[in-house]
Amino acid sequence: MDMNDQKRRRSMLLYVIIAIIVYLAVSNNLYPNLVSQQIQPKSYTEFLQMVNEDQVKTVNLDTGDNTITFTTGEGDSQKVYKTTQFPDDSNLVSTLYEHNVDMNAEMPDTTSTLWVYMLISYVLPIVIFMLIGWWLNRQMKKQMGDDAPSMNFGGGFGGMGGGLGKSNAKEVKGEDTGVTFKDVAGQDEAKESLQEIVHFLKNPDKYNEIGAKCPRGALLVGPPGTGKTLLAKAVAGEAGVPFFQISGSEFVEMFVGRGAAKVRDLFKQAKEKAPCIVFIDEIDAVGKKRDMSINSNDEREQTLNQLLSEMDGFDNHKGIVVLAATNRPETLDPALLRPGRFDRRIPVELPDLTGREAILKIHANDVKMEPGIDLGVIARSTPGASGADLANIINEAALRAVRFGRRRVSQEDLVESVDVVIAGEKKKSTVLSEHEKEVVAYHETGHAIVAAMQKGSAPVQKITIVPRTSGALGFTMQVEEDEHFLQTRQEAKDKIAVLCGGRAAEELIFGEMTTGASNDIEKATQIARAMVTQYGMSDKFGMVALGQQRSRYLGGGAELTCSEGTAQEVDAEVQRLVEEGHQRALTCLRDNRFKLHEIAHYLQKKETITGEEFMRILERDDGFAPKFAAATSQQ
Ligand code: ADP
Ligand code: MG
Ligand code: ZN
Repeated sequence: MDMNDQKRRRSMLLYVIIAIIVYLAVSNNLYPNLVSQQIQPKSYTEFLQMVNEDQVKTVNLDTGDNTITFTTGEGDSQKVYKTTQFPDDSNLVSTLYEHNVDMNAEMPDTTSTLWVYMLISYVLPIVIFMLIGWWLNRQMKKQMGDDAPSMNFGGGFGGMGGGLGKSNAKEVKGEDTGVTFKDVAGQDEAKESLQEIVHFLKNPDKYNEIGAKCPRGALLVGPPGTGKTLLAKAVAGEAGVPFFQISGSEFVEMFVGRGAAKVRDLFKQAKEKAPCIVFIDEIDAVGKKRDMSINSNDEREQTLNQLLSEMDGFDNHKGIVVLAATNRPETLDPALLRPGRFDRRIPVELPDLTGREAILKIHANDVKMEPGIDLGVIARSTPGASGADLANIINEAALRAVRFGRRRVSQEDLVESVDVVIAGEKKKSTVLSEHEKEVVAYHETGHAIVAAMQKGSAPVQKITIVPRTSGALGFTMQVEEDEHFLQTRQEAKDKIAVLCGGRAAEELIFGEMTTGASNDIEKATQIARAMVTQYGMSDKFGMVALGQQRSRYLGGGAELTCSEGTAQEVDAEVQRLVEEGHQRALTCLRDNRFKLHEIAHYLQKKETITGEEFMRILERDDGFAPKFAAATSQQ
């Protein structure tokens, strides 16, 4: 939830509370008198009973309508009642005489009070609600400028207050986005695909002349922080056209009907400013598959439908290109992906090694660095980091330099901030007891030794037992020498063994287990499960896809697509794979237990050791030379 959302929520709440208070105050003061003038229905039996109790003062019998109107009390306490459907009761008139009821008396005029009653109970609250809403909306606009989220109430009253339904789309002149393709490192394929859109936006006429169908929409698909928003801005910047941006999540909390109105308004603006780019960030928030489930969201569907019809509607000679971004393409409604809509899909993937270095370089330009900084090392130690992570690393390093009173960023700042971004800030408040520190030291050393003993495993770069704000009590960082994109079955198995190394060391040395391995266990299980269900790497099932990945870009496991019986066998196979890794880790550490002791104690003392220190101790020939055999020979 961002700040705007929070503000909006808070003011919504405020508005509801004020409205309720006002409503209660008004109705409590005005109601009683009015209600007393109101005609209340009574049954015939009740009527007779009231007559017998001498409550009834006047009666008006209407045999045509078959109704009895009668009153009780006098003056201010007079009340009017009505009975319909009374039976043909021959005793009625004599009973009325007996109780001195005035027949054929003038009945009080209730129609005018009825009118006032309706006004107060139905119309007035709505008017009050709307006035307050309008006032709050204005207050908010005043505070936050034009970015303020519009609020509106009751759907149908959109006209009130003027400009209430204006779209939030922030228009920035293309030149003003100040972003071009030069600011986006890597992502060459994405840039190439977008180049055609840039060209079209620059010369729509050329395309019209030939009669070429121009791209209307493209979907940027990839994990968070990979530069999708940045790329969209860069397209506008390259083409020099206005850029309208709106986020899908903004629609979701809106009142019914507002989302659709906003889309309409957005496209109206865009048509006026064409050629231009309309960018819909997080389109999955509105563009989810429409379904019949109970929690289907009418508002979202209306918004989506409006979006679809707008995309079909505009004639594209002028050059409006709709770009959208998502990290959950699999959840999108297929209607969005049909030709003429977001039929182009542009993958924006996590950067590879060269990409990471290039991104670091771009962001390093913004800060002052000591000479001789090696960004390559940083790139190598950050596999899986997104562009946003890398930008963050540079910024953290700059902050650290300032904290230490230096005027330039040093290599150490960068190395330190990699840890901060990946594992969280060092946590001073967590003070481990000596015993806990020892356990963590053995745990991390366990990972490192098992890693070092696997041929295919990435070298250890650093081991630390400084607690982090992310909750990690320590970590072992491995760095790939170079990137590779295929993983062999053996490498997957090695990874599982390395992940089991922490727990295995604890078991071996302390003969007990701690909760410190929960994250390792989760990861190991994930790998094993993927091996069985997705990669066809188990002997038992062979090359059968047993699962379907839930979300490609957000991680998360696979959904099983097999029968229940098979699912049980899958579980058993996953268990077997993890256990195999566990046993290998145990064997490996048992064989190298003297090194384990030595390194763990050294780590406990120093808290952080580098990969070189680690290897120096491990490879020192002191009669306890590491035994490589056990770990890799086993299949
Ligand atoms: P997304 O929209 O994919 O979540 P953003 O475009 O918002 O990611 O990226 C966030 C920030 O990360 C950008 O503002 C930029 O500073 C940085 N960044 C991400 N990818 C790149 C890249 N390829 N080159 C340069 N900077 C990048
Ligand atoms: Mg984004
Ligand atoms: Zn661990």
